[in-house]
Amino acid sequence: MGEATVSRDVPPRIDAEAEVVVIGAGACGLVTALRAKAAGAEVIVLERDASPSGSTSMSSGFVPAPATRFQHAIGIDDDTPELFVADIMTKSKGTSRRDIAKLAAENIGPAVEWLADHAGVEWIVLDDFLYPGHSCHRMHAVPEKTGAALEARLLAAVEAAGIPVVTEARAVGLYVEEKKIRAVEIERPGRKREIVACGALVLACNGYGGNPDLLREYVPEIAGGLYYGHAGNTGDAIIWGRALGADTGDLSGYQGHGSLAHPHGILISWALMMEGAIQVNSEGKRFSNEHGGYSEQAVNVLAQPGGIAWNIYDARIHEFALSFPDYRDALQAGAIRQAPDIAALADTTGIARNALEQTLQRVQILQRGEESDAFGRDFAGKPAFAPPYFAVKVTGALFHTQGGLLIDRTARAVDVRGNPFPNLFAGGGAACGVSGPDVSGYLSGNGLLTAIALGFMAGANAAAAA
Ligand SMILES: Cc1cc2nc3c(=O)[nH]c(=O)nc-3n(C[C@H](O)[C@H](O)[C@H](O)COP(=O)(O)OP(=O)(O)OC[C@H]3O[C@@H](n4cnc5c(N)ncnc54)[C@H](O)[C@@H]3O)c2cc1C
Repeated sequence: MGEATVSRDVPPRIDAEAEVVVIGAGACGLVTALRAKAAGAEVIVLERDASPSGSTSMSSGFVPAPATRFQHAIGIDDDTPELFVADIMTKSKGTSRRDIAKLAAENIGPAVEWLADHAGVEWIVLDDFLYPGHSCHRMHAVPEKTGAALEARLLAAVEAAGIPVVTEARAVGLYVEEKKIRAVEIERPGRKREIVACGALVLACNGYGGNPDLLREYVPEIAGGLYYGHAGNTGDAIIWGRALGADTGDLSGYQGHGSLAHPHGILISWALMMEGAIQVNSEGKRFSNEHGGYSEQAVNVLAQPGGIAWNIYDARIHEFALSFPDYRDALQAGAIRQAPDIAALADTTGIARNALEQTLQRVQILQRGEESDAFGRDFAGKPAFAPPYFAVKVTGALFHTQGGLLIDRTARAVDVRGNPFPNLFAGGGAACGVSGPDVSGYLSGNGLLTAIALGFMAGANAAAAA
């Protein structure tokens, strides 16, 4: 059997078995496992890496959830799943799959609360900054405010629940009888391949950001750019899905990011832009409305000379940015430059002084509200820049793909006629997301939204199916 294959043969032997087998130990797989185990199923998680991390560990770990008790505790009482669905649909200009958006928005609040009650995951609501496109403060994070800490807390909960996570176990093949998944073949270093029989299978192995061929096929405009997600996410769910006759959706959708410190590869939060920072290219010119969205900005930045841009801001924004762990890492790594005046800023960035002066003068006019921006950005409400200035060189990157297997209301994969597979489930980046078919459709948090909400559903329903 080759890699990511489907066989209709009877498995030659069974080396192990579990009622629910989960492929992938990121947020989706771990939430799935916790929920399936709590529902009484015997669960195994298969993870290709020696130490589970996934894109989840690389993320900021911010999970959007409406109408939670954590919101109520800080006086946010007017959020609802309906409002959240409306925000998702607005960002994607109505192109997201409304049924999946509704499913995720209705289940993410209960999932977050369930994780607190049954897995000891603590949550705080970030209320110091309103993420673009969200009508209210609904980003939840673990107290450390990082994706690595979220992954670590989920792993600790999985361990405490006694769920085996088999590491260095890459799932390479599925054994199928008609539409039923019978077993998963795994490859482990230095061992013969093993076959794990399953009552139900959950694909939680994310998308295809780590598969250059699939990137060229589905998202050619970003295929040559940097992939900043987990390298092990090589699109196995899509490859199996295609071989099984499963339906897929929005495979051209993805999340980009237009602000990755270059060459350090450290995320510079888009919160800086929302607080007033601007982006200029190496010629000192602004080239976009920086409030249009960080995902589509990946493409805008990559279109600039050298595929790079400079984030420019002042000390007020620098102080604000210091609250983000990634930003502090960037400072430590020497990515952040500081200059007492525009001439020195031009020197440290290598941007022509005249061009930079002109751009910053123009921005001052916009910041004072004297004229409107040719790119359509609203500069109102934030003070004009005051020296010293700060700058960081950034590039655009692909964070994760948003298309995947289409699912029904139980998180079961469906075939091209819309009929569900009896025991095959998908969630997180393996399933079709809620960002529509385009880079501009990604609303902050759409990734962990479907990882956790669909994992929560897949876990319960896979346990029932098994
Ligand atoms: C820099 C960055 C910042 C982000 N910030 C946020 C944020 O703040 N909020 C948000 O909502 N989203 C964010 N995202 C997106 C978010 O990280 C993902 O949407 C989410 O982590 C997906 O979870 P997952 O469980 O589906 O996949 P992952 O966490 O990637 O887990 C998939 C796992 O499957 C394993 N795997 C793959 N193939 C196989 C196989 N064949 N056999 C065995 N194992 C396999 C992988 O090794 C991996 O461990 C960010 C992404 C990046 C890159």
